[in-house]
Amino acid sequence: MGIKILTEHIGKEDLKPIDAYMKYGGYTAVKKALTSMSPDAIVEEVKKSGLRGRGGAGFPTGMKWSFLAKPEGKPRYLVCNADESEPGTFKDRYLMMHSPHTLIEGMIVSSFALGANTSYIYVRGEMMFVIRILEKAIAEAYAKGLLGKNILGSGYNLDLYVHPGGGAYICGEETALLESLEGKRGNPRNKPPFPAVSGLYACPTVVNNVESIAATSWIINNGGDEYAKIGIGKSTGTKLISACGNINNPGVYEIELGLSVEEFLYSDQYCGGIANGKKLKALVAGGSSVPILPANLITKTANGESRLMSYESLSDGGFATGTMLGSGGFIVFDEDQCIVRNTWNFTRFYHHESCGQCSPCREGTGWMEKVLHRIEHGHGHMHDIDLLVDVAKKIEGNTICPLGDAAAWPVGSAIRHFRDEFEWHIKNPSEATRKGAVYRKE
Ligand code: NAD
Ligand code: SF4
Repeated sequence: MGIKILTEHIGKEDLKPIDAYMKYGGYTAVKKALTSMSPDAIVEEVKKSGLRGRGGAGFPTGMKWSFLAKPEGKPRYLVCNADESEPGTFKDRYLMMHSPHTLIEGMIVSSFALGANTSYIYVRGEMMFVIRILEKAIAEAYAKGLLGKNILGSGYNLDLYVHPGGGAYICGEETALLESLEGKRGNPRNKPPFPAVSGLYACPTVVNNVESIAATSWIINNGGDEYAKIGIGKSTGTKLISACGNINNPGVYEIELGLSVEEFLYSDQYCGGIANGKKLKALVAGGSSVPILPANLITKTANGESRLMSYESLSDGGFATGTMLGSGGFIVFDEDQCIVRNTWNFTRFYHHESCGQCSPCREGTGWMEKVLHRIEHGHGHMHDIDLLVDVAKKIEGNTICPLGDAAAWPVGSAIRHFRDEFEWHIKNPSEATRKGAVYRKE
């Protein structure tokens, strides 16, 4: 078993009551930070830790914090992005459900470091059960003097609010989230300016994922250097992975970054191998917004190196620039899965969730969905394959927010790695549309 930072005590007892959480050392980071450290010293520790944003982009958290503008007379805000909506991703809700105080403690430490006196946790609106758990835990923290005025006699004041999300995938994009938090439609804003300069109510704002914020308490208790020793290279620390699809042990696992994909996929401690003795066909390693990998590139890279669970190692060398570790949604496909159908399904999702502000995304996701639908339903033409690649390339990099890229990458990578399967659908429409029929490479 590797080191556990966020989930070490989950399962020992119900950690939702604050007294249970404190029994295992909970809130010592708040005490240490507020009574013996300066905000700048905390930012320095987080920088040293090498912690990278766990929502999907992997941007260095300490660097993001150091970008926070500090204009005279303007408040600063910390907003936790708990709008977890990425298909295949369910790790933040796991942490908030089982150990809400881990997030609340991280919110207090991080808000203090950033000089925020009002902070928000924006939770996906569908997760009312999580909202109730967090609200109860926040009330307990106020009752213990860990939130509110003059926390632990330090002179520092913090109010923490939970805000239900707007019920749309796009509200998880940080600037759409801020619009939604301001009471408006969740439309992404153009960046720059980044939220660190002009965020909530046009004030400097840091938006961080649940897991990133939760990790800061451990960093304060143990030091940034200790955190940086965990993991591999620039992928420091641990990562929560939600594993699903055709595997024996679906669930949420905290892994040390650098673990081999092979061990994660096949060891009984984690996914336990492919369900029902089937063969592995493909993997989407970081939620649906990243490229799909074919079986031959899952445990080994194109250079024959062992593929690792890290920001650097998970990449397919294609036109995707993002990291494939993404949000940690590990979706496994066995030999009975149809790649065309699954690609159509992903595209349908993005078309439905596009906010419609920019034409490449609004129109392009719709075109891709229609073309994939006709291929899947036996009405495709050979030129449709290149048409899909063309549309995907024209969306990528030409939109306001990353939803456009997220819609383009699965299509581009599915065709790059499974072109023969698309061709088979077009050449054999009656066989391809037969119930249960799946293309199998000879
Ligand atoms: P991004 O790379 O644009 O930004 C990453 C973060 O760094 C942002 O907070 C941004 O404000 C900040 N940043 C970047 N450059 C900056 C600068 N120069 N100055 C100040 N701040 C700067 O990516 P993103 O839009 O935040 O996230 C995209 C990722 O979100 C995708 O990779 C996808 O995996 C993931 N995602 C996750 C979910 C989920 O449910 N967890 C859902 C959809 C997408
Ligand atoms: Fe809206 Fe799509 Fe443009 Fe993002 S890329 S702003 S979701 S239309």
